[in-house]
Amino acid sequence: MTDFHAYAAKEAGAKLEPYSYDPGALGEHEVEVKISACGVCHSDLSMINNDWGFGQYPMVPGHEAIGEISEVGSAVKNLKVGQTVGVGWNAESCMHCSPCLAGTQQRCETGVPTIISKGGFADRIRVQDIWAVPIPDGMDAKSAGPLFCGGITVFAPFVDYDLKPTDRVAVIGIGGLGHLALQFARAWGCEVTAFTTSMDKEDELKELGAHHVANSKDSDAMEKLKGKFDFILSTVNVSLDWPSYLATLRSNGRLITVGAVDKPMGIPAFSLIAGGKSVGGSDTGSPDRVARMLEFCTRHDIKPMVEYFPMEKVNEALEHLESGKARYRIVLTN
Ligand code: NAP
Ligand code: ZN
Ligand code: ZN
Repeated sequence: MTDFHAYAAKEAGAKLEPYSYDPGALGEHEVEVKISACGVCHSDLSMINNDWGFGQYPMVPGHEAIGEISEVGSAVKNLKVGQTVGVGWNAESCMHCSPCLAGTQQRCETGVPTIISKGGFADRIRVQDIWAVPIPDGMDAKSAGPLFCGGITVFAPFVDYDLKPTDRVAVIGIGGLGHLALQFARAWGCEVTAFTTSMDKEDELKELGAHHVANSKDSDAMEKLKGKFDFILSTVNVSLDWPSYLATLRSNGRLITVGAVDKPMGIPAFSLIAGGKSVGGSDTGSPDRVARMLEFCTRHDIKPMVEYFPMEKVNEALEHLESGKARYRIVLTN
C-alpha cells in the first residue's frame, strides 16, 4: 500500500498544504478511485474555515471528484476496476437507518461526508460503493465533477417540489450551483429568471437558459416582479432581504434555499400567510437520483461551465472562488 497524496488544511482557516496519508485496508464495500479532476464548491471554503462548526482537521476538502476505479472491495458487485465514476458530498451511509431505507441515503443518520472522511483534493479517494456513480457514455468526464454536488443540489428540488413546465422559476445567485440551476430550469420547460448582483454576467446567463436577468440590488426591478414566481431557488450563502423575495412569489409559491446561510432568516409570518407561501431548504440526493440527473444532463446537453486549475494550485483556486470571479465552477486537475 502506498500513501495517498492530498492537500489538507491542518487547522480551521489554514492554507492547504501537501499531505500524505495511509488509507489502511480497503473495506469490503469500498472502492478506490484514482482522481483525474475535482470541482471546488463554496462548501469546501466554508468547511476549511469551519463556518459550520463540524470541521475535522487535518481536512482534505473536495467533494466533486471524478476518476477511474483502481480497486474494489471483495463485496462490491456494481462496479469494476477501470470504470469512470464521480463522487459527491457523501462517502458512506449505513443502508439500514430510516432515511437510508426510504431511499434518501444522503440523509443517513450516521452518514460520513466525503470531506470528513478524506476528500477529493488528492490523487486518490475511497468511498462506499453506492457513492461512486458511473459517468454515462457521452458525458465529458473532465468537467463532470460539479454535477456531483452543485448539480444534484439544484436538481433535487425540481423533483421533490414537482416543478411543472408551466412554472415561473427564479434562481438567486449565479455561481457554481446557480449556473447549473438555470440550465435545469430551462430544460424542465420553465420560464427562468436569474437574480444576480453581477449584471456583467447578463449575456452569459441568457446563454445558460435565463429568459430574464434581474439585478438583485435594484429595488425598482424587484418591485416590478411582485407576485410573479411559483418557485425561487436561492444559492446565495449570505442573508438577503427575504421578505422582498417572498413578495415576488405568486399564491402558493415557494422559496427554497440550498445556499448555506448561517444567520437566522428573518421572515415575518405575514409575508407567508398572505398567499399561502412557504420557505424551506434542500440537500443533495441519493445515488439513484444522481444517476437520473446525469442521464437528464446527457439528454439535454447540460454541462458545467468550468475553469481549470492544476491540483497543486488549489490555494489560488480557492482564492479565485472567494473573490467571486469564478465563471462558473473551478475544477482542479491531476
Ligand atoms: P458560488 O459559486 O460562490 O456562488 C454563490 C453566488 O452567490 C455568487 O456567484 C453570487 O452570484 C452570489 N453571491 C455571493 N455573495 C453574494 C452577496 N453578498 N449578495 C448576493 N449574492 C451573492 O457558491 P456555490 O458553490 O454555488 O455554493 C452556493 C451555496 O450553496 C454555498 O452556501 C454552499 O455552501 C451551498 N451548498 C449547499 C448544498 C446543499 O446541500 N444544500 C450543496 C452545495 C453547496 P451573483 O454574482 O450572480 O450575484
Ligand atoms: Zn443510514
Ligand atoms: Zn458542494
